[in-house]
Amino acid sequence: MLKGIGSSGGYGIGKAVIIRDCTLDYKSVKYTTADDEKSRLRSAVERFEQETRSLVEDLKENAGEKEAEILEGHLMMLQDPFMLSQMEEGIDAGSVAEAAVDSVCTMFIDMFSSVDDELTRQRASDVKDIKNSLLEILLGVEKTDISSVAKNSILIAKDFTPSMTSRINAKNVCAIVTEVGGVTSHSAILARAMGIPAVMSVVGATEVIADGEELIVDGFKGKIITNPTSNELALYKQKYNDFLQEKESLNEYFGKATVTKSGVVKKVYGNIGRPEDVQNVLQSSGEGIGLFRTEFLFMDRDRCPTEDEQFEAYSTVARAMGDKEVIIRTLDIGGDKAIEYLKIEREENPFLGHRAIRYCLDNTELYKTQLKAILRAGQFGDIKIMLPLVTTLDEVRRAKALIDECCDELEQQGKRYKKAPLGVMIETPSAALISDLLAKEVEFFSIGTNDLTGYIMAVDRGNANVSSLYDVFQPSVLRAIEMTIKNAKAAGITVGMCGEAAAHADLIPKLVEWGLDEFSVSPSSILQTRKYICSCK
Ligand code: PEP
Ligand code: MG
Repeated sequence: MLKGIGSSGGYGIGKAVIIRDCTLDYKSVKYTTADDEKSRLRSAVERFEQETRSLVEDLKENAGEKEAEILEGHLMMLQDPFMLSQMEEGIDAGSVAEAAVDSVCTMFIDMFSSVDDELTRQRASDVKDIKNSLLEILLGVEKTDISSVAKNSILIAKDFTPSMTSRINAKNVCAIVTEVGGVTSHSAILARAMGIPAVMSVVGATEVIADGEELIVDGFKGKIITNPTSNELALYKQKYNDFLQEKESLNEYFGKATVTKSGVVKKVYGNIGRPEDVQNVLQSSGEGIGLFRTEFLFMDRDRCPTEDEQFEAYSTVARAMGDKEVIIRTLDIGGDKAIEYLKIEREENPFLGHRAIRYCLDNTELYKTQLKAILRAGQFGDIKIMLPLVTTLDEVRRAKALIDECCDELEQQGKRYKKAPLGVMIETPSAALISDLLAKEVEFFSIGTNDLTGYIMAVDRGNANVSSLYDVFQPSVLRAIEMTIKNAKAAGITVGMCGEAAAHADLIPKLVEWGLDEFSVSPSSILQTRKYICSCK
């Protein structure tokens, strides 16, 4: 049996599919002759062209015109004789085919990315795709196609990037297992959003589990049983059926108002990371979006999304939610959320460093692009803006001034927008301690217990050695939560919670007693949370 951190509840019984990191390291490739290297290069280019052409046809048939155009662009670039002749010159000078591809493509990537024009910069990521595909072909790296794995597959990987996760077909994948991360890591958040059981931080999972091996994954207890006996299989099939029944029984809470036994009305919202997660929230009868983690839009790509791209994402969410509230959290990067292309300096203590609102207030061009996109999307629904990792009043005031500046600029540019109410996350001890003062500056609070617990207990939320201290039930954390709710109530502003603890069966009665208004949880926990709240006094 293997142990890890249960990060998305549920049971998966199926066969392992190992997703290996494809290393594109060619240091051990030996140079033979220039003719050999050139012929390896030419066959790689031919295979790339064939594969790309057939992908283009597939995409066209399946209505992915835009993606098809991008791939056709790749073909055209590689057909440019200059690119190929440069590679052959590299080979003549003694480089193996891989090194020639690498250096010529890198030269183009650097050249395109240094240009101001957005379209030209996009070509840098096209060349990066070409480079990776050619290196994969030359090195014979076989990639597993995540989107087309068989039914009842259990995906095992070091970690899942957001783009890997978006290719997961939840109908065929019955569980995921990773070697890193925990309850609050981005893969766990996405797994819960899709309702897929997950166990994280399983040391050496991709090595000790064999491809095709039969497995049982227990996403509640963080257990993986390899090659289960018939008794274990029978036991877990029973557990799985009970779990499905329990889930089924929650359907009676679908579309119901969230009201306590004494008649107090509460709201249960969903947390999302991508526009497409909205469907999971609606299908789980979420009454709004309490946290849109916008950093996911910035991950797994080569450059920041433009104002229009972000506008598209935020307005898609707003439109889908209609008159329901949508709380968009501005970029929360740094700490455990790295974005390579932003080139954030390496820090000794990233969790205490230049992250989230601190980074954004020092990079106003990037921040204003996001704020403008949110303000423009405001026309299409009930959008609110939320600031992450606030520690001082000054940060809130500076953010407000930037929002005003954005409104003025949008006005001048003749772009339509709607000013959105502003709120802050209470996820640092400082914010909790000055919550009476912050309440005078903003229109709502949302308590982020994932970070708040870590910062109050001085414990890294991803460090297994100190995980017993990462406990929202510690009196210090409970006091901070109670105090924040009381200060919000005293100021007459609404207060929600969007950390994982909002779905905790034992915490919910206390939160109801203290007067929390809104509980924002993973889509898969919405109905269960409503049930818990409805059973409170
Ligand atoms: C939190 O800290 O509780 C929170 C919701 O934000 P994140 O998990 O994205 O840091
Ligand atoms: Mg946080």
